[in-house]
Amino acid sequence: MFKTPIHKPLPKQGDPRKFAQQGVTLEGFIPVVELPRIVDATESSAGEVQVHLEFKISEEGKRAVTGHASANLALVCQRCLEPVTVPVESDISLAIVWDEEAARALPQHFDPWITGEGMADLYDMIEEELLLSLPAVAYHEESCVDSKLYSSGKPVEAKKEKNPFQVLEQLKSSPKS
Ligand SMILES: [Zn+2]
Repeated sequence: MFKTPIHKPLPKQGDPRKFAQQGVTLEGFIPVVELPRIVDATESSAGEVQVHLEFKISEEGKRAVTGHASANLALVCQRCLEPVTVPVESDISLAIVWDEEAARALPQHFDPWITGEGMADLYDMIEEELLLSLPAVAYHEESCVDSKLYSSGKPVEAKKEKNPFQVLEQLKSSPKS
């Protein structure tokens, strides 16, 4: 039996209302380089965003899309100013609406996806969700390597140091890069 390959790109365009009516599930990746605002906000355009989307009619009768997007993105470590790769996870729960007025009337567990008739840019929507999920500050999980000590030729043993801001606590459950 033919097995659908899991590693395939997410389609860039789609009709979210039609997808919701049909109960379409989309699974795929987006090359980070295709998301210009993510590239601007991070240190590397390498890698891919893994995306899983389920379009449906919600219990309230709203056209909706739920799912998640995840990527390992390079941010600047605020302790040593070197790049640090952090897992970024975004839970998606959007209701597809026509305008701001409809957006305001949504139940709390939905964020609005304001889009007109027909095709919408799925990459743009995912990019927006990921931007909202970027941590404000990032640190190396282990102690940063001191580049001055490194240049002396002796490898430095990493010291356990307590992170004062605990920002990475929420990321600990995610798989390490
Ligand atoms: Zn660091």
